[in-house]
Amino acid sequence: MEPWTIQKLLNWVTEYFTGKGIDSPRLSADWLLCYVLGLKRIELYTQFNKVVEQEQLSQLHELVKRAGAHEPIAYLTGKKEFYSLEFEITKDCLIPRPETELLVERAIEFLRTRNGEQFICDLCTGSGCIAVAIARNFANCRIVATDISDAALAVAEKNVAKHGLMNRIKLLQGDLFEPVIAGLGPAKFDLIVCNPPYVSEPEYKKLAPNVKNFEPKFALTAGNDGLDIIKKIIADAGRHLKPTGTLMLEIGNEQGNAVRNLLETAGYFGDVKIDKDYSNLDRLAIASTKPAK
Ligand code: GLN
Repeated sequence: MEPWTIQKLLNWVTEYFTGKGIDSPRLSADWLLCYVLGLKRIELYTQFNKVVEQEQLSQLHELVKRAGAHEPIAYLTGKKEFYSLEFEITKDCLIPRPETELLVERAIEFLRTRNGEQFICDLCTGSGCIAVAIARNFANCRIVATDISDAALAVAEKNVAKHGLMNRIKLLQGDLFEPVIAGLGPAKFDLIVCNPPYVSEPEYKKLAPNVKNFEPKFALTAGNDGLDIIKKIIADAGRHLKPTGTLMLEIGNEQGNAVRNLLETAGYFGDVKIDKDYSNLDRLAIASTKPAK
């Protein structure tokens, strides 16, 4: 039998994933091979004719089978790229999504309009990807990141250390602002960011198997309309923001009007904006508090 080269394996795995309806089959095949062979992606292509050893073939076979049953590649490899940075990922946290890069981008744009050191709060931090991406791209800031899940915070801690940000990002366990109040007193932030759970129960039932069967449900759902957590954040955000401070929330694509309404009636926001993602769907709510009188 002809030996299994990297090229032959990539073609075979891609075809297998295509048949199983896996998203981005070629890219998924690339990441799995990189993981098993300990190579960078570019190296797969410069070593196309390299023959893969039996032990690695068996390991790959096992992982391909699991991925074919919709287990996310990021959980199999323990890694995911977000905002061009590499993150450690486990099944205790949501896998960073490309849509969430929009939140980071808007946050950095906002921070660049301000003077002096910026004090930021990241709620529901999960893997810590938003806090780390902001801190890596905006030097003059300190971030407090909270999460209700200890297991998720353990992942965030690894990512904060991996990117050398221990002295600028403080991780606190607890529900939304609760640990902030307990640990820091009535802290006032320049910016509050959050990608909260916002999937409604009816929507959750329709999610793809790679999400529904593998990612933590508590990181995704928030009641019958998906707004439970967003409502709690909006109710409390005002008193944690400085004047002209800003709240940025990732939202579901059908929640734009409802969230705009919640922000406008909250009483302390002057300017409210709903932003669309690259698929032209509502994805981000941005609200700023009024200037000091
Ligand atoms: N956009 C994600 C999904 O539908 C949900 C992320 C979230 O709830 N914050 O898979």
